[in-house]
Amino acid sequence: MSDAIQAVRGMNDVLPDEAELWLWFEGVVADWFARYGYRQVRTPLLEHTGLFRRAIGAVTDIVEKEMYTFTDALNDESLTLRPEATASTVRAAIEHSLLYDGPKRLWYQGPMYRHERPQKGRYREFHQFGAEALGFDGPEVDAELIVMCAALWKELGLEGIRLELNTIGSPQERAAYRADLVRHFEANEAKLDADARRRLHSNPMRVLDSKNPAVQEVAATAPDLMKYLGEASLAHFLGLQRLLKAAAVPFTLNPRLVRGLDYYNFTVFEWISDRLGAQGTVCGGGRYDGLFAQLGGKPASGVGFAAGVERLVALLRDAGRSVPRRLPDAYLVHQGEGTLDYAFALGEELRAAGHAVVLHAGGGGFKAQMKKADASGARVALIVGEDELGAGAVTLKPLRDARPQARVARAGLARQLKDFLKES
Ligand code: ATP
Ligand code: MG
Repeated sequence: MSDAIQAVRGMNDVLPDEAELWLWFEGVVADWFARYGYRQVRTPLLEHTGLFRRAIGAVTDIVEKEMYTFTDALNDESLTLRPEATASTVRAAIEHSLLYDGPKRLWYQGPMYRHERPQKGRYREFHQFGAEALGFDGPEVDAELIVMCAALWKELGLEGIRLELNTIGSPQERAAYRADLVRHFEANEAKLDADARRRLHSNPMRVLDSKNPAVQEVAATAPDLMKYLGEASLAHFLGLQRLLKAAAVPFTLNPRLVRGLDYYNFTVFEWISDRLGAQGTVCGGGRYDGLFAQLGGKPASGVGFAAGVERLVALLRDAGRSVPRRLPDAYLVHQGEGTLDYAFALGEELRAAGHAVVLHAGGGGFKAQMKKADASGARVALIVGEDELGAGAVTLKPLRDARPQARVARAGLARQLKDFLKES
């Protein structure tokens, strides 16, 4: 077996026990989005590489070193497995003129791909769900997106996820700030690491959220962007804070929370859990009013978030959350000439009536089949032998209740099974 092929590093299989939790989780998320008026979009996993270069920015971790990019040899174009879905969502909105009749609330979910060093909570294929509110200018949608996250954590029963909030102002305000920021970093250049030094001129705001303690120390004494903000920026930020307070959603202001690119503006936020170790951010979001124009569309505002499913599912598991598995109502046992065909058709009838039915497959005697029936977790075994076949009937044998078995006419079986399951 030593030459058996394994999964690609950093890419996980979700096996049935865990997939049940995922399925439940996805159902909760879909229902929650619907309650806030968000409608789903599905975009391809593959996009032109240029989309992400333009949308995420060339000087970012993602574009610099994390993208799965390859040349499609058949038509010699550079394609990339999506590392996130905001770019694709905005591309789709532009391509299909989604905003022609007004703003839209959209959501998505699915796998994303980033070539990172795999570790707990950090994978190369991972899953996100996210929302993009397109065409809304006011702080009320920023607040809505944040408040709905708070509601979701509550609904999922997750505690200890805290909110950090910041504003990065407008591109013009940041330009003035940026000059002072670069001056500050230059004065402390000896304390910066290679990454920070490289970004010092290309994307200095990203230096603020470096995870290197030495760099953090320099960032701590950096000029305060808040002092560079004009009236509109402040009004937006205060409006957002007012709505969060009204909704009783606590937050911490973190001036070092940033997105360094020109088409991001105003709100940035992160939801962080202390129960996940270093990979504690479960959700990040913000406003990107410049992105439509950046991608060649008519200018329109945008704000959204993306949340990491693996990290949230890990929190659910740690909180002891499991979902009951749907066990079969019935396990179909069949033995004797002609009984397989009879049982096979019967299974389809019962499933059409809404029952979960497992047909015994793979041969074996009556005893072995009954063992399988028991192990399946089914509530009853439905036994078809030559007698039953001849009589147009089935024997219904309870597997979990102290009730006698009974012979039931095939015609009324679906109904009888329903009644039986209700009674016991
Ligand atoms: P980090 O600082 O942890 O790398 P990020 O800023 O790259 O996060 P975003 O691009 O904002 O993350 O993605 C939103 C969310 O998606 C994150 O908060 C996290 O929950 C999840 N996420 C991002 N990258 C990964 C990954 N490689 N594996 C698992 N989840 C991830
Ligand atoms: Mg990252």
